[in-house]
Amino acid sequence: MSSTLDHAIRQKLRAIPDYPKPGILFQDITPVLGDSVLLRDAIGEMAGPFLVAGVTHVAGIEARGFILGGAMAVALNAGFIPIRKPGKLPFKARRREYALEYGTSVLEAHEDAAGPGNRVLIVDDVLATGGTAAAAAQLITELGGEIVAWSFLLELGFLGGREKLEGASVRSLVLL
Ligand code: AMP
Repeated sequence: MSSTLDHAIRQKLRAIPDYPKPGILFQDITPVLGDSVLLRDAIGEMAGPFLVAGVTHVAGIEARGFILGGAMAVALNAGFIPIRKPGKLPFKARRREYALEYGTSVLEAHEDAAGPGNRVLIVDDVLATGGTAAAAAQLITELGGEIVAWSFLLELGFLGGREKLEGASVRSLVLL
């Protein structure tokens, strides 16, 4: 990636202390999303490595992964799979519980969202501890899909999340 784009994204990120809980420094990407040139260039950079990777579907993780993942799906001529928080999907869904720093959480995908022969790219805005992205990939794998890679706008490298992501490559645009 050009250092100009890296710099421009860093400049636009808004760090919010103690959101949503005390002790969390939340990286708010909405100023990046709101800038037409940055949004286009960030999606172009995120999609670039996968243009000839045979991706059939992009799986976006609710909620900000829907925004980036939807744009990535269009850029890659791929379908889109929503990975959602529990109780949001209308059809039969498979669920996966996973550990957070404190407690557990659940993600769901429709049972027919992916299957054998599908090559799926998992997309989210931020890679933090990696539990969310790992659970999303497990859902797709259980459905019979193959994980091509994980792609993130931001990686909080100091949390070591990529160690939880095995079996495919991990790409992030900006490393914090
Ligand atoms: P994790 O499972 O710890 O990798 O958390 C990843 C999920 O939580 C992603 O969907 C992120 O959007 C969100 N997230 C975690 N930490 C942050 C943070 N510091 N700033 C913004 N989003 C975060």
